[in-house]
Amino acid sequence: MGAIDQLRRIKAATRAVARQPRVAIERARRELRPVYRGRGTCPICERAVRFKALDPWFRDHLLCSGCGSIPRERALMQVIADWSPRWKEASVHESSPGERGTSVKLARECAHYVASQYDPSTPWGEMDPTGQYRSEDLEHQTFADESFDLVVTQDVFEHIFDIDAAFREIARTLKPGGAHIFTTPLVNGREPSEPWARRRDDGTIDHLQEPEYHGNPMDHEGGSLVTWHYGYDIVDQIREACGLDTTIVLLDDLSRGLQAEYLEVLVTQKP
Ligand SMILES: [Zn+2]
Repeated sequence: MGAIDQLRRIKAATRAVARQPRVAIERARRELRPVYRGRGTCPICERAVRFKALDPWFRDHLLCSGCGSIPRERALMQVIADWSPRWKEASVHESSPGERGTSVKLARECAHYVASQYDPSTPWGEMDPTGQYRSEDLEHQTFADESFDLVVTQDVFEHIFDIDAAFREIARTLKPGGAHIFTTPLVNGREPSEPWARRRDDGTIDHLQEPEYHGNPMDHEGGSLVTWHYGYDIVDQIREACGLDTTIVLLDDLSRGLQAEYLEVLVTQKP
């Protein structure tokens, strides 16, 4: 919302309070009243915090008072801790990290952590000028074989065109015993996965469905185009692409702030 819109809203609210103070104040109170408030332990903060949601769509709104994380970030951290307990000593590649929550924790606490971004303005395999991330195309990575114990992606795969190539590349760069632990919304549930947009050979985009975009920290204006709506059969797609087995983990525990829509975490393991 722009500053002028904000000013207009404040002015309108002030006028409403002046006209009918009790009604206006009650309405404002209703809008700000949490639909959920509780105490618990955050898997990212690892201490006692409060969880609060002002909106019933917990996926984006059930926030931790300590780190500001949302449920899928806490679920991912919990699954990393459960499935890869020595994660702090692990060599980790996170593609397209977020600006809070699990990404910040991994960057701070892992001994060997590299972040990458899809950034065509920086040559593939090189660090960007700020030194914050390495430029990598998930479908064609420059990392050596068997480089990582852990590859992490958060809500990235629903934006990738050639998912077979990306899963194959991740499998190639994992060490034996390593895992790709990731989130991507399994919006189709038991229904089959559906491609949403396709990249033609000439690089142009073929929209198979009404174009859909999600917020992207690298592109605050445009957002990222959704390329797939996944169902649980994503595990078959991964197996066909790279031969590895995947487990879908669904945690449900409000005392750790783990309850929301599409909270599944996927763990693809390399034997
Ligand atoms: Zn937290």
